[in-house]
Amino acid sequence: MRLRWESHFKALNPAPENRMTFRMTLRHAAAATLLVLTAAFAATPAQAQRLPSNAKPEHYALAITPNIPAATFAGTETIDLTLAAPSATITLNSLEIQIQSVTANGADGTVSYDPAKEQATFTFPKPLPAGHVVLKLAYTGILNDKLRGFYLSKTATQTLAVTQFESTDARRAFPSFDEPALKATFDISLTVPKADTVISNTNVVSDTPATSDTHTMTFARTPKMSTYLVAFLVGDFDCSSSGSADGIPIRVCSTPDKVKLTHFALSAAEHFLSYYDTYFGIKYPMPKLDLIAIPDFEAGAMENFGAITYRETDLLVDDQDGINAKKNVASVVAHEMAHQWFGDMVTMQWWDNLWLNEGFATWMQDKAAGEWHPDWHYEQGVADDLDGTLNTDASRTTRPIRATADTPAQIAEMFDGIAYGKAGAVIGMVEHWIGPDVFRQGVHNYLAAHLYANATAEDFWNAQTATSHQPVDKVMSSFVEKPGVPLLTFADQQPAGDPVSQKRFFLDPPTGAGKRDEEQATNTSRGWVIPVCLKTSGAPKCELVSADTAAVQMPAAAPFFYANADDKGYFRTAYSPSQLKAISAAAETQLSVPERIGYIGDRWALTRAGQGSVGDFLDLALALKQDPNSAILDSTLGTINQIRSRIAGGSDAISQDDRDKLDAVIRAQYEPVYNAIGPKPTNFDAQQIHTELYGALGEAGDQAILTQARQITDDLLSGKKVDSDLVDVSIALAATTGDTDFYDRILAVSQRSTDPNFQMEALQILTRFRDPALVVRTLEYATSGQVRNQDSWILIAIELNQRETRGVAWPWVQAHWDKVAAQLTTSSGAQLVSATGAFCSVEDRSQVASFFAAHKVEAAERSLAKALDAIDACVRLRQTQEPKLRAWLAAHPAQ
Ligand SMILES: [Zn+2]
Repeated sequence: MRLRWESHFKALNPAPENRMTFRMTLRHAAAATLLVLTAAFAATPAQAQRLPSNAKPEHYALAITPNIPAATFAGTETIDLTLAAPSATITLNSLEIQIQSVTANGADGTVSYDPAKEQATFTFPKPLPAGHVVLKLAYTGILNDKLRGFYLSKTATQTLAVTQFESTDARRAFPSFDEPALKATFDISLTVPKADTVISNTNVVSDTPATSDTHTMTFARTPKMSTYLVAFLVGDFDCSSSGSADGIPIRVCSTPDKVKLTHFALSAAEHFLSYYDTYFGIKYPMPKLDLIAIPDFEAGAMENFGAITYRETDLLVDDQDGINAKKNVASVVAHEMAHQWFGDMVTMQWWDNLWLNEGFATWMQDKAAGEWHPDWHYEQGVADDLDGTLNTDASRTTRPIRATADTPAQIAEMFDGIAYGKAGAVIGMVEHWIGPDVFRQGVHNYLAAHLYANATAEDFWNAQTATSHQPVDKVMSSFVEKPGVPLLTFADQQPAGDPVSQKRFFLDPPTGAGKRDEEQATNTSRGWVIPVCLKTSGAPKCELVSADTAAVQMPAAAPFFYANADDKGYFRTAYSPSQLKAISAAAETQLSVPERIGYIGDRWALTRAGQGSVGDFLDLALALKQDPNSAILDSTLGTINQIRSRIAGGSDAISQDDRDKLDAVIRAQYEPVYNAIGPKPTNFDAQQIHTELYGALGEAGDQAILTQARQITDDLLSGKKVDSDLVDVSIALAATTGDTDFYDRILAVSQRSTDPNFQMEALQILTRFRDPALVVRTLEYATSGQVRNQDSWILIAIELNQRETRGVAWPWVQAHWDKVAAQLTTSSGAQLVSATGAFCSVEDRSQVASFFAAHKVEAAERSLAKALDAIDACVRLRQTQEPKLRAWLAAHPAQ
């Protein structure tokens, strides 16, 4: 699955752990990103909900008839299974389903339900023999509006019935052995109205009239697969003219009005299918591949075997859309297609190893998309994402990559920045260390050994160890089992003493008892085994650093070294003052863009951890203000924005004065850079920098830019032709001081547009208005039922997240919780809880804790612990750094 907040939504405003973006191109700007960061150990013991091990399914035959107007469906089901021992009962998963009849080998049985365990048990008069049993069921269920199981999705002209089963919702559509290791084959048929079609995992083998106004579509038998990968989608879909790759037909489908937006995704899918066939050395196994945009969809996308579903904004793009929209679609398509091998053909044994699926797909999406479009510089986004993940993982409430998950709520909480970002980064580190060809061979060997079956973390790293003859198992097991981030501290010159030492890094280091516990844990645990690749003036050189062997041979007399070549290592670095001086001096000439992003990220993380002053960081950031690469500017301006909203983010007059002075410094430092670029830059990076500085200077109160932004917006609204790359940013800037009339016009645009990307951008502009009455209007609109529930929480989360709007939004959300909660789906509640992690005062912390204690949110336990931790960290950061910022501002008056 691809989460909605991954890469697609970039924060408009500082988020707890996200890279900041002052990038106000509203392409893909939503607050959500920030919200990823769930993860703490759940305190309540889980009630085990695993099925008994006696029955193993072999084959399902499903015939389903939805009644869309009545929001119900009826099904008949035959399950061929094997009993290991004689038994008079069979237990499987079933939820919100009424079973009308059940027989086993022809004998009638009775049904009892255990809704808490999401199970049904059939009891038969005599024990069934060990061996083959044929179970036949007739049942009915509901088509819900919660975006999970078999659910309804509405457009202006039709209602669709579609499925989303990962992780534990196939049981809402058909009684099943709904665990990933209980694989079986499937024969699926649906009887639907004549005007509708059905898309499922395999190709159609027959389509015959059923009644005068319905038809039955039957699909070819699937390979052995997990229940969570089954899909059936009913509605009036239209598909792009067919494409193909390596002999496999490929279609991109949507509701008919949007089929014109499918061409880009089709060309991406054609490319990736051939690429993966070659990369994995195993051919795509299904008879066809469909990619389908669903109007209401909770996640970003879902890798159903042969029938991948997407949120519309993650699949559909207009040719006119900007590069960021296309980059995003390419990477989501690459992610889901990688899952066809890694996840669908070979599946994790249980959800505790979810990272095997998601870490691999996260790493692969950028590799494959980057190979397709090197000009789009995915490697810079990877470096940026790594920085955010390291911050997420440097909190006390983080979790190890592999963690216990027994209940559906615990499983839902596994889909976090650790399973995706950290696992992906660790996989990338291993590939970089042992080399891409050896790594690829290990991937092939692993897949080939477990085709159509299940595997564990050990299977993966043992295959890599055997192929590479390197201790990949030691490296990966240390990163998969130990929570947190290593900090490597490099001492000044050897040979005397250890040149490098490791310890766990915390952004908000524990004190008192917590510190003692941590030190004890460090002393008794074995530490990480870390491939450290040194960059020097020569070729990079990798060495393993473990707690036992800390001897990294640093190049003697090298003018400088940098300890994280290509920014592929999963660790933070601390250097001696002389090393730092050498690296900073060589940063622009010797470090690649990803390395510079990592270097800046490390310096800011150490500052947050109290090892340095905000003033030193500002000196470094301003020294890089002329960097010709837009990603560096993005990174430094982003961090400066964090300094403004967190360290100088208080509500008193003194904090306001700090912000004003910091804004004056930004204007004085960056206006000359902006002016030097000129109004019409031609190269891509200069264009990006131009737009970025325009936005940053506007936010910092540059009057000329704010006037220009209002002028561009007025021209646009009065129907004049506006020829400017600055339109998006101008609207966003103008909205901050915008009035009701302007608000109404943006709202109308969002309601009229039929381009999903554009519609989302317009919706998010609504959150840019700072007038308290308009903040309330946006919150009311988000909870009015007029915004799809896949999107409504995003608007609320942004309003909570922004320093300028949260003072209105948080009291409103508390006072109107019933309306807010009515919009929530499986995971969006946790996202809203996470949004409060952007708060930064002791009073806010106690309100958040008491409010969510009284208003429990499903599958949000870790998110709440993490949010409270983030607030604590911000409070301490402000206490430590505010006086230092004030001193720096006094010493650096803007000219
Ligand atoms: Zn995924």
